[in-house]
This record gives sequence, structure tokens and C-alpha cells, in this order.
Amino acid sequence: MPRVYNFSAGPSMLPVEVLQRAADEMLDYKGSGQSVMEMSHRSKVFESIIQEAEQLVRELLNVPANYKVLFLQGGASTQFAAIPLNFMNGSNKADFIITGQWANKAYQEAAKYGSARIVASSKDKTFSYIPKTTREDFDPEADYAYICFNNTIYGTKFNYIPDTGDVPLIADISSCIMSEPLDVTKFAMVYAGAQKNIGPAGLTLCIIREDMLGKARDITPTMLNYQIMAENDSLYNTPPCYAIYMCKLVLEHLKETGGLEAAKERNEKKAKLLYDYLDSSDLFKATVVPEDRSLMNVPFVTGNEELDAKFVKEATAAGFINLKGHRTVGGMRASIYNAMPYEGVEALVDFMKKFEMENK
Ligand SMILES: *Cc1c(COP(=O)(O)O)cnc(C)c1O
Repeated sequence: MPRVYNFSAGPSMLPVEVLQRAADEMLDYKGSGQSVMEMSHRSKVFESIIQEAEQLVRELLNVPANYKVLFLQGGASTQFAAIPLNFMNGSNKADFIITGQWANKAYQEAAKYGSARIVASSKDKTFSYIPKTTREDFDPEADYAYICFNNTIYGTKFNYIPDTGDVPLIADISSCIMSEPLDVTKFAMVYAGAQKNIGPAGLTLCIIREDMLGKARDITPTMLNYQIMAENDSLYNTPPCYAIYMCKLVLEHLKETGGLEAAKERNEKKAKLLYDYLDSSDLFKATVVPEDRSLMNVPFVTGNEELDAKFVKEATAAGFINLKGHRTVGGMRASIYNAMPYEGVEALVDFMKKFEMENK
């Protein structure tokens, strides 16, 4: 069977070169006589894998020396609790911008631990835009402010970094990490589940400014304590070794293909092709206001649920899989992460044009 074009929001496609390399190294990783899955996480050979992965994260994202790079487990969702446990320990207040379900889940989790406040929300228009905020919107006493930078379900992305004054800003970048350059210095912490752009599910990359560490509540579970994880170079317990190795391969590939500037160019080209068609189509419509559109997740509708279902069914049969929109919003969504080739989007647009002709 030829490889399908997988438009899933996650887990999503990985570069074929990466999968091939992993396959080649499966039985014997670099002359060690074993698979990365089998080796000790305390061995020299694994140490070099995790160190190289960290180095690549630092290089690609231009991470300053005063930030820790952690490879954790539990997915992005585990950080929804870890973040308040680690940082909500001063005024016990935190400010949230609600731009969709992921931000809302993080907000609800934080509200279990302290006073979580909604600063702005785009719920009034089904999260189809990003609210604008100014420094005055944030409580200067808050322990942190929180945003979800790219909203996987609704297809919006912050086109600005909120000015929170002296309040540390934390961002969930799960669905846009490594898709384009990001000024990490504007954030106290950014983090991402790996399965959208950088590897297998479960692995979670956290990049945390050092001065944020050491504030955890006493009740913080050891495994959720960022300081302990940092002191142990992500090796407090057995880390997700194979997922870290896969992440390293993805990042190596990203570097070899020109880094984040080149990734941005490719992603903009892919997204433009799809959005331009959606904006010119009489059948399909993009649901997000043009200025806040995500490069990674492109939701669209026909306005007719039956036609939406027909489209998803026919697309699946034609090898374009996982185009159904999130169960809470319906319609369609094409997630076009780093590993989706331009040809995949081109083929999808051709298929959509044909469907439009046949269903006028
Ligand atoms: C996918 C996703 C999550 C959830 O990730 P898990 O690793 O499944 O916990 C959280 N936030 C965003 C923005 C996502 O896209």
C-alpha cells in the first residue's frame, strides 16, 4: 500500500527519511548491537542521544543558555497540572487567554490549585479569532499568564506575543513547535507534546527559564517537579528513550533541510495554497479570520453537514485520511504539519476542486 496523506491533528506524519533511518537502525544502533528501545538510559550511547537532541532543540529554536530543555512524559495535558503546581505559589493567581479547548483545559486544571482568571476569550465567535490584549489586561500580581499559541482544533494562531509586563508568560506550542522561528526569550516557559511536529506521542518537550524553577508547591509530585527533572537532566527516572531518539532524528532532519526559516517558508507555501483555494471556492469556506489563521491546522466547512460527510468519505477513499473536523466543531480540518509535503496539499486541493465541480 502506498503511504497515505495523513491530515490528522496528531499523531501526524513524520518525514519518510526519518522513519527509514529508524528502520535502518532498529536492530543495531550505531554498532551498539542493540535497538535504542533496549539500551540502558544510563549508558554512554543513550546519553549521547539525549544530549544531541537537547543540542538540536537549542540550536533550532535559538534557546538561550538560561533556559532548561526538558524531555518529559505524560503529554502536553500533564503540564496543565504541572504548571500550576510548579509556579502558582506566590499570589496563587494566574491569568489565561482562552482561545479554545486546550487553553480552557489548562485553565480548568489551574483553577483546582488557585485563582485562575480569564483575561480574554474568543468563545463568543466559536474561537475563530485571537483576542487582542494589552499589558493592562494582566494582573501584575499573577504568578504567570498562560496562552495556547496555536489552536489545533479551531485553526487559529497568535500573530503577536502578548505583552504581560513582568508577569511570566507560558505558552503551549504543541501544534506549532518547530514550524517557524519563535522568540523563546519572550516566554518564561514553552512546551509541546511531541506528536504534532517533532516525534511520537507521550514525549513532552518543556523549555523553562531557570529563574522559574524552585517555586514548586510542597505537594508537587516528584515526577511533575520541573526543578527535580532539570537537576537530573530529564533522567530522574527512565525517560521515554525511544521517543527521544525519534525526536532527535526529526530535529536532525529539520536542521539538514534548512532549519526553522526554511520550515516556515515551506509551511507558508503549503498553507497559502490551501487558504487561497478556500477563499476562492464557492463550496468550501475557511472558518478563521484571515489575520489569525494557523499555518498548521486549517478548518473548513461546506455549510452542509451531509456534504461535509460525503467529502470526508470520498477523500478517505482517495487516500486523504483524517480530514474530519474535531468532534466538537464538525466540518473538516486539514492539519498540514512540517512533515506534510507540498505535493500532499496540492493533491488535496486538486481533489477538493474536483469534488466542488461534482457537487455544484
Ligand atoms: C494535542 C494538543 C494537546 C494535548 O496533547 P497530549 O500530548 O495529547 O496531552 C495540548 N495542547 C495542544 C495545543 C495540542 O495541540
